[in-house]
Amino acid sequence: MELSAIKGLGEKNQKLLQQCNIFSVEDLLSYYPYRYDFLNPSSNLLKDEQMIQVVNVFVFSEAKVSYIRRNFNTLRFQAKAQDKMIQVSIFNRAFLKPNLTLGREITIIGKYNEKKNQFVANDIKLNVVKEAKITPVYHLVKGLKNVNLEQYILDALRKPIILFDKIPVSYLEQYQFISKTEALQYLHKPRNAEEIKKARLRFIYEELFDFMFKILYLKENESKALGLQRTLDVSKVEEFISSLPFSLTSDQVKAVHDGLSDLQSEKRMNRLVLGDVGSGKTIVATILMYANVLSGYQSVMMAPTEILATQHYLSLLKLFEGYSIHIELLVGSMKQSEKKKILERIQTGQVDFIIGTHALLSDHVLFANLGLVVTDEQHRFGVNQRKNLQNKGFRSDVLYLSATPIPRTYALTIYGDMDTSMIAVKPNGRKSIITKLKKESELKEVLKEIYREIKLGHQIYVVAPLIEESDSDNLKDVNKLKEKFELAFREKASIGILHGKMKSNLKDEVMTSFEHGALNILISTTVIEVGVDVKNATMMIIFNAERFGLATLHQLRGRVGRNDLQSYCYLISDQESERLKVLEESNDGFYISEKDFELRGQGDLFGVSQSGDMTFSLADLKRDYKILLQAKKDASLFIESKEYLRNSYYLDLVKQIDFTN
Ligand code: ADP
Ligand code: MG
Repeated sequence: MELSAIKGLGEKNQKLLQQCNIFSVEDLLSYYPYRYDFLNPSSNLLKDEQMIQVVNVFVFSEAKVSYIRRNFNTLRFQAKAQDKMIQVSIFNRAFLKPNLTLGREITIIGKYNEKKNQFVANDIKLNVVKEAKITPVYHLVKGLKNVNLEQYILDALRKPIILFDKIPVSYLEQYQFISKTEALQYLHKPRNAEEIKKARLRFIYEELFDFMFKILYLKENESKALGLQRTLDVSKVEEFISSLPFSLTSDQVKAVHDGLSDLQSEKRMNRLVLGDVGSGKTIVATILMYANVLSGYQSVMMAPTEILATQHYLSLLKLFEGYSIHIELLVGSMKQSEKKKILERIQTGQVDFIIGTHALLSDHVLFANLGLVVTDEQHRFGVNQRKNLQNKGFRSDVLYLSATPIPRTYALTIYGDMDTSMIAVKPNGRKSIITKLKKESELKEVLKEIYREIKLGHQIYVVAPLIEESDSDNLKDVNKLKEKFELAFREKASIGILHGKMKSNLKDEVMTSFEHGALNILISTTVIEVGVDVKNATMMIIFNAERFGLATLHQLRGRVGRNDLQSYCYLISDQESERLKVLEESNDGFYISEKDFELRGQGDLFGVSQSGDMTFSLADLKRDYKILLQAKKDASLFIESKEYLRNSYYLDLVKQIDFTN
């Protein structure tokens, strides 16, 4: 059903909803709250200092705003609760001032300190809350209000829409789950905590069942899938390996060996190379791509960003200088005419290695004889996207690379459909990266350190976080940092910037001059997060480090320490954080992910919030691990018993992910 069917939902807000990936009434209903506000208002103040209270009061004095520094303010006023006069303060809500008219009744939410007679509010409701109420809270984008979204969803709930239930009837009955329609009501307008619990449990199971079905179905399918029969010229492969400027680590040798025997076996290769950042996965893939080409087939490698694809392309060109291997790059930003030429060369078999981004998925990309598909940073792509590329070949072998450091038990479950080669040991001679937490006020010290590295001829990355939901603020931030740094270093350093909004040829230009050492410092948003490799970079500075998950920080830090020079990482944050200390302690991605799990659950396990299939709306792999195991059992039975053949949703799904050719 179209969004325009919703009462009061104008075009402007439709656009905002689209930014949240809501394109239909069905999507609206499937947009779940991420938390709830439980408001039980009273007019009495409790003495418990620690308790969050919801109190209805009358504004008794004009509000005063004081600025601590730019972007930080406190609003203060007197209020009357019952017969008691109290002092109310709230942080960063200066904009409420005109609404706090004398005598107005409002609801304040926060903690009360009786001794000081002070109420520190963390929220103020101008529309006074009269009775106990549970408010669902949704993720929003700038300009969209929670109350409006709530209204739209309430209206959607009144529409005659039946969302397809992905839980098979037999399991619905076995677990006595409530129906999806009922569960949606419970989730979006709960009357009590019990309803929320019931509905969540049901949706979590649904998500995990659906997910495990996909994994298990693929695994089953995979075990039968035929690959290409080929004879490999192993001596030539070995020759190439010994021509490399370094010798492979034992784990790399093992991974290459696994891959070569996959290529030779009649079974289709379906292998994941799992290794921490900087462990050297790319060269493993490169060797296998070369082996594949030697046996007469084309190799393709897909990477999640243009920068990364370009970098792979350039390093392959260098690596295969003097070989008769034809290498091409295909990315979205290329000129149409240029693309056309390359597409033709791919289709007629004049290209051996094709490196690219999502652009490779387009229907226009046809291969002469695709034999090996490599997906770098595998977790950034969805199953469907990966399969799509694979389906462009006949029985093509498939290799995935992933740096996702993830505890082993979880890895086995969620990567259950693939064979895995682990690269646990990093190349020899690497010193571990020295990591330090610093306060913003200690920036001078950090600048000194930067200057020391510059004088040694080394390079520095500076990362400024993406400010939530507003790219323009973000631009300002990167630019502002540049100004600051330029002021600090004057002529002593050349500084470049990189951010998501830049045209891609400009991005490439900046990246290339950083790679060539023409820039000393590169200031960027997290566009450099994935995979880039500049060996001479020895220092990573991350501002507002508390805004990133540990996995992301670890990935970012992995951009330095790529040769035998001592490298450094400075995490700049004004917040005390146990989390960040984990990075000071350790350079081991697997250890860090265990800690991250311990401290905050699944969190940003996959580094980026919207990636691949592993982003669940409600499920959390750690918290819900037991449910996951149950869902795995159930899905396995569902497949074994062939029950899925009688279920239209799963039949459809199977068609989408199937590739029996
Ligand atoms: P990642 O696993 O994060 O993708 P890369 O494949 O980009 O890591 O490798 C990181 C760096 O280590 C690259 O510069 C690569 O050339 C280098 N490298 C890879 N294997 C070895 C090795 N055995 N000895 C020394 N350097 C290596
Ligand atoms: Mg990589």
